[in-house]
Amino acid sequence: MNIHEYQAKELLAKYGIGIPAGYAALTVEEAVAGAKQLPGPLYVVKAQIHAGGRGKGKFKELGPDAKGGVRLAKSVEEVEANAKEMLGNTLVTVQTGEAGKQVNRLYVTDGVDIASEYYLSMLVDRASGRVAMIVSTEGGMDIEQVAHDTPEKITTITIDPAQGFMPHHGRAVAFALNLTGDLNKQAQKLSRQLYTAFMDLDCEMLEINPLVETEDGKLLVLDTKMSFDSNALYRHKDVEALRDVTEEDPAEVEASEYDLAYIKLDGSIGCMVNGAGLAMATMDIIKLNGAFPANFLDVGGGANREKVTAAFKIILKDPAVEGILVNIFGGIMKCDVIADGIVAAAKDVNLSVPLVVRLEGTNVEQGKEILDNSGLPIVSADDLGDAARKIVAEVKQAA
Ligand code: ADP
Ligand code: MG
Repeated sequence: MNIHEYQAKELLAKYGIGIPAGYAALTVEEAVAGAKQLPGPLYVVKAQIHAGGRGKGKFKELGPDAKGGVRLAKSVEEVEANAKEMLGNTLVTVQTGEAGKQVNRLYVTDGVDIASEYYLSMLVDRASGRVAMIVSTEGGMDIEQVAHDTPEKITTITIDPAQGFMPHHGRAVAFALNLTGDLNKQAQKLSRQLYTAFMDLDCEMLEINPLVETEDGKLLVLDTKMSFDSNALYRHKDVEALRDVTEEDPAEVEASEYDLAYIKLDGSIGCMVNGAGLAMATMDIIKLNGAFPANFLDVGGGANREKVTAAFKIILKDPAVEGILVNIFGGIMKCDVIADGIVAAAKDVNLSVPLVVRLEGTNVEQGKEILDNSGLPIVSADDLGDAARKIVAEVKQAA
């Protein structure tokens, strides 16, 4: 789960991390009220969307010469004018895709006199089984570009979670950033605070770009992105409450309400499968047969009629879907029960695209009989390969 910049900053501030003052705003009035509480004379108005690259982004409605999603303002009046221009409009950045994202929230924050910009991020590194801290003197830029052009300017420091954050980790971060004197001490302290926040909050990723050194010698977090391990959210109700579903794919939000693991993809074959491993194999074999999956969907172990119906509806909402492949292994669930659910759901949603079903497991014969006698044009398949070949052929024929 992702959250907005201002929410991440509020969380980090609780760990004593240096953050410029700021206020979130849903309206122009709130933006003005926020600015009035800041000392000035420099303010920054920032679009709050779940995507980076806002500074260099462009508003669809405003033409190529208008300013982007991070704007300096030199008075409360300028804050107001910028808020008016930004709210409700669509910001397109390198991370939003062409469609862009509507800006519904702003963050009005202190303008900082920047001496240097740095990069610091943390993530769970599966390969080493550690937390990786990635630092670079090249802040404020596209880090992928830095990694590509000048990889020697990126340092990775890994921390064993069993051992925890040691003083030498902090020194390594400060050294990688070329900091001396008091700034060096600040970097050591900051990296420890960030590690603590990262572990406490079950983060998946925490990125600070830029981390800045101010003209008066302070390290401040100017921009941050945070994402959390969804499996750990149950123990962070306060973090869960920060979820902004308007930033998420509506189909994925609906799926999560039914406890379905659904991820939208770009292909044309909708998939309904039980078990993540089988779902991955199903997507692979669709590709092997020359088509592309429209989604990943794991209905889980205890899929009942209601869940199957919800899954059908979510798959069919995607206009790119030209056919559906159901691939279910009836281990604990019996195939005849699943077949009943599929038939009922297919009738319920007035299925308009070809449907191939592959059932395997307990009571598979009864299950196939139910499908065959349903009066619906359901094509039954014998195994995974057969199922993939059949759905690809059906879709080609229908086209
Ligand atoms: P994004 O990464 O989405 O473009 P940032 O918050 O990193 O957004 O802003 C882009 C740039 O704008 C930063 O690299 C920094 O130079 C400048 N900036 C952002 N916030 C402030 C601020 N509070 N004061 C001064 N400059 C800022
Ligand atoms: Mg940034």
